[in-house]
Amino acid sequence: SKAQQKGSFLFFNKLINQQVHKDLQLESALRLALKNNEFSVVYQPQICIQSGHINGVEALLRWHNEQLGHVSPVDFIPIAEDTGLIHEIGMFVLEQSLADISDFNHHREHPITLSVNLSPRQLNAPKFIDKLVAAAGKHTIDSQLITFEITESLLIEDLAHVSPILQTLRDNGFNLSLDDFGTGYSSLSYLSILPINEIKIDRSFVDKLLTSSETENLIRAIVAIGESYQLTIVAEGVETAEQLAKLNSFQCHIAQGYYFDRPLSLTDLNNKYLTTVCC
Ligand code: C2E
Ligand code: CA
Ligand code: CA
Ligand code: CA
Repeated sequence: SKAQQKGSFLFFNKLINQQVHKDLQLESALRLALKNNEFSVVYQPQICIQSGHINGVEALLRWHNEQLGHVSPVDFIPIAEDTGLIHEIGMFVLEQSLADISDFNHHREHPITLSVNLSPRQLNAPKFIDKLVAAAGKHTIDSQLITFEITESLLIEDLAHVSPILQTLRDNGFNLSLDDFGTGYSSLSYLSILPINEIKIDRSFVDKLLTSSETENLIRAIVAIGESYQLTIVAEGVETAEQLAKLNSFQCHIAQGYYFDRPLSLTDLNNKYLTTVCC
């Protein structure tokens, strides 16, 4: 009936309004978050599968707000991207992680690598590369130790514009990783078009590695193709010894996941890894 229709419309409308309200609330909180020091960066180790030693860490952003509690980056990064706040937030992550890891490395015998997630939005900012180079120089960390992780689906929307920027990053010695590999509209041709040196197999595939023979074959194929392009292959979301053993049998290079470590505070990273060897 009309009344029922109207009722479900109102209900639906209310849900949408709730979502809009939630987003607006997030947005205004997000605007203040930098000023109020509500962000921090945690580090998840990336382990060489063959040796079992640490190769590097991925920097992951955390936000704790008094009213909202812990907010997941999955929820606030898209808002940061839409509002343009990602530029400032992204620079915070970069500066903080460079400071932390260059300091960590100065206390170690062999340096580890640092991977930082970049939103494709950030690549469009004027002088972005100048800022990166300046930041890396300031913290005296070799650009060859730094990898930028970029999600493929977003990249490909703007390929013509983004490709030369990525090339400039490579020319400056930085490494590039194709994040969430396999989840977007990935086409193998991008592997030869984009100036990348690493692919990251998404957690959703690693999750199914032991239960789906299709997924097992897919991962095996990704590793073989990556190998043929001389790319480093990282598997994310590794949670069990069995997954690790299988990835090792495919000769996947690096693993990251709860099996080794959750994302760690700098203090915890120091306590566990400061005196260990690298791979
Ligand atoms: P991502 O880049 O794919 O990062 C991996 C996510 O998987 C992280 O979630 C990590 O904590 C989680 N993870 C790692 N190992 C395991 C595991 O073994 N099992 C499970 N279940 N999860 C695991 P997190 O930290 O919540 O980040 C979510 C996403 O937010 C990231 O996905 C990335 O796309 C984005 N993000 C995080 N920090 C930043 C940042 O500084 N800048 C940008 N642009 N995006 C960021
Ligand atoms: Ca990532
Ligand atoms: Ca992922
Ligand atoms: Ca991602």
